[in-house]
Amino acid sequence: MDTKFQIGAAVHWASQSSGTTKEKTGRILAVVPAGKRPDRVQFLSLYKGAGVGLSRDHVSYVVGVEVGKTLGSSVRYYWPRVASLELVKVESAIGLEVHHEGSAAISSVLERCCMCRAPTPYWHGSDVALCPECAKTTELAMLPTKKEWLAKERALTPRTFGQIGHGDY
Ligand SMILES: [Zn+2]
Repeated sequence: MDTKFQIGAAVHWASQSSGTTKEKTGRILAVVPAGKRPDRVQFLSLYKGAGVGLSRDHVSYVVGVEVGKTLGSSVRYYWPRVASLELVKVESAIGLEVHHEGSAAISSVLERCCMCRAPTPYWHGSDVALCPECAKTTELAMLPTKKEWLAKERALTPRTFGQIGHGDY
């Protein structure tokens, strides 16, 4: 698949609606394969109002634009024309500090990195697990809150419904 932008990349574009041009900056949240439309469950808001439109004959991208400045503020989804997207060079990409889950007693406990889901003993600010690799390229604004991270992990981890051997079956 010919992907021009990586997930997490910062992009800029100008959108035209009702005669006005709006400059927007956001991050690539998902790659939409040619002939497909954005995930309806994940990006439901795109399907509201005028609707999402037809699938495209090329790879496209769902872009999230943060509304508000604080961490954990809401993100608005867009599905802009690929031709209008420009990569934003992030200057002073110094990355984030992470620290090792130090105690020997619990060092075997690995949590999944909140960005790439690789098991890691490293944490950012002790709120979310963040591996050293992702810490190099992650900005604070990209980090999920602890609540978001836990909710995502819960959604991605298969649940066990009851225990076998309790006479439920
Ligand atoms: Zn990672």
